[in-house]
Amino acid sequence: MNQPIDLNEFHWLLAIVQSIDVGVVVLDRDYRVQVWNTFMENRSGVQPKDAHNQDFFSLFPEIDRQWFSRKVESVAALGTPAFTVWEQRPYLVRFKNYQPITGQEEEFMYQNTTLLPLRSTDSKINHICLVIYDVTDVATNRHQLQAANAQLQQLSRTDRLTGLYNRGYWEESLRVAYARHQRYGNATSLVMLDIDHFKQVNDTYGHQAGDKVIEQVARLIHEHERETDVAGRYGGEEFGVVLSDTDKIGGRVFAERLRKAVEGLEVLHNGQSIRFTISLGVADLSQPSINYADLIAWADHALFASKKAGRNRVTVYDHKKAPDPTV
Ligand code: GH3
Ligand code: MG
Ligand code: MG
Repeated sequence: MNQPIDLNEFHWLLAIVQSIDVGVVVLDRDYRVQVWNTFMENRSGVQPKDAHNQDFFSLFPEIDRQWFSRKVESVAALGTPAFTVWEQRPYLVRFKNYQPITGQEEEFMYQNTTLLPLRSTDSKINHICLVIYDVTDVATNRHQLQAANAQLQQLSRTDRLTGLYNRGYWEESLRVAYARHQRYGNATSLVMLDIDHFKQVNDTYGHQAGDKVIEQVARLIHEHERETDVAGRYGGEEFGVVLSDTDKIGGRVFAERLRKAVEGLEVLHNGQSIRFTISLGVADLSQPSINYADLIAWADHALFASKKAGRNRVTVYDHKKAPDPTV
């Protein structure tokens, strides 16, 4: 079946194996190295004459011996090749990565490997060929793509100016908090707040100053919230904070602290000092509700009451006094 190989051809094949940019190792059934190409020599620093007949595991103590020998035994027994990809196992032998890649630096060479059964002239499988491919480029690209995706995902949730959650993501979080309350009954409250006479800030000091004021309010909210709270920019200069495991009494305490902090704040813009206040509304889920939008409506209603009563204050939504804004 096999044509007798021409001596020239044999030399060419050897030259190719030597110069090819993949690692080629032939092992006998006792894991002793029989062939060691230039790639292996360059990457390991071990010359072919020193590698020859060496125990493969003593050359690379990092190899998981049990796993590797099980794989080799099955290749020898079945006479079929076996493959390993870097996603399963980043590398077989620990080689340094020689291609410095901009951005993310990988300190080792990612590898795909193939194990091939080699039949001797007596058609027995007495040797196994191991081929090692350097796939560091592929792995690095994948990692960079994953990092970029994570960043994009993060960006799509946050409001650019304030770094708080944007309205879409924030409402989604409120929906989740609402579902949690429905299921476990834990207290959940909502604080809505709006900057007082903000149009005047824009008109008096300019839009950039207005933006700075919005940023500073967001910073104060962020400073006052707990890790489990979820703060979002609901509209231009209106914010919402979902407080988990907190009823409206606790919500009022939070709102009042925030109100005071804003009242004491001084925003400097082009040498001018800008002072301003906020109005807040608080509601919780201690009363029956149909969906999370009820809670927003109640807190908004209380916020509106704060505005009407003269601004710079906190109002807690009272189901007994207030007409239900949801009907
Ligand atoms: P009130 O006390 O009743 O809240 O009065 P107000 O002037 O604050 O009224 P309102 O809340 O309706 O003001 C909204 C204004 O906020 C209108 C809009 O020009 C301004 N605004 C909305 N988004 C931004 C923004 O991102 N930057 C700046 N600088 N201004 C914004
Ligand atoms: Mg306002
Ligand atoms: Mg407003």
